Amino acid sequence: MQKDTLNSGFSDKRKFRYDSNKLGKRLRRQVGRAIADYSMIQEGDRVMVCVSGGKDSYAMLDILLSLRRNAPVDFELVAVNLDQKQPGFPEDVLPTYLSNLGVSYHVIEEDTYSIVKDLTPVGKTTCPICSRLRRGILYGFADKIGATKIALGHHSDDVVETLFLNMFFGGRLKAMPPKLKSDDGRNIVIRPLYYCREADISRWSEIKEFPIIPCNLCGSQENLQRQAIKSMLKDWDKLQPGRVESIARSIRKVVPSHLGDAAMFDFSRLDISKLDFVDITDLGGEPIKSSS
Ligand code: SF4
Repeated sequence: MQKDTLNSGFSDKRKFRYDSNKLGKRLRRQVGRAIADYSMIQEGDRVMVCVSGGKDSYAMLDILLSLRRNAPVDFELVAVNLDQKQPGFPEDVLPTYLSNLGVSYHVIEEDTYSIVKDLTPVGKTTCPICSRLRRGILYGFADKIGATKIALGHHSDDVVETLFLNMFFGGRLKAMPPKLKSDDGRNIVIRPLYYCREADISRWSEIKEFPIIPCNLCGSQENLQRQAIKSMLKDWDKLQPGRVESIARSIRKVVPSHLGDAAMFDFSRLDISKLDFVDITDLGGEPIKSSS
């Protein structure tokens, strides 16, 4: 082998290692920041990490395991997979992966696939019923194992997509929260990947060679409206890098006085004869008090 070829092989490997380390650090930093910013995990928590076999949940588990090693608080991680009995689901993949990791885990077996097929009217998408059933089973299981938190693998792109889905098709300014209490009040759901970009997670998944289980085993197509929004955001990312991050930031910097929801801001309070609170934070300044 020629010396030049050998050198370029070494430098490729060095670059790969350098880029991988940098990406790993960035993802861990973003997850650590989300956990701290939203008080996602506290001392003594038992966190049930929902693992579907997709890149996002693998990445979430991988990063949480790594953060736990040096975390200032002691918490437990339990991986849980719901085997929905979809045709062709490779039953051994997750148990083998999780056993090798040495993390405690459970696989719940529930044939929601048949129920979903029975309950979904012909021509309608199966996802709404499927997600509701899955959520119910996972939340119930969290109670059973005494989990204090349920971690889901939604990332920043999911959050922005949901924002546009709700705006375009639901007429509401609403995205996905980093932390929420379930409707029945029994579970706290957290989204540790809240600050992470999907492209970074995909790359991390390739680097770590996660054993991905295809997400189309049920035969259903991903929601077409979500697909359209995904491709719109992809175009924006190419056209103007940083725009999607900026939208994600805007969800965290809401100025109710400059929107139109009277339930969030008391517009009747505005009166030129009174001392008003003038919010100039949206102009980059500190809020000030001023008399009109
Ligand atoms: S894609 Fe399939 S498994 Fe996923 S939510 Fe829809 S029906 Fe369920």
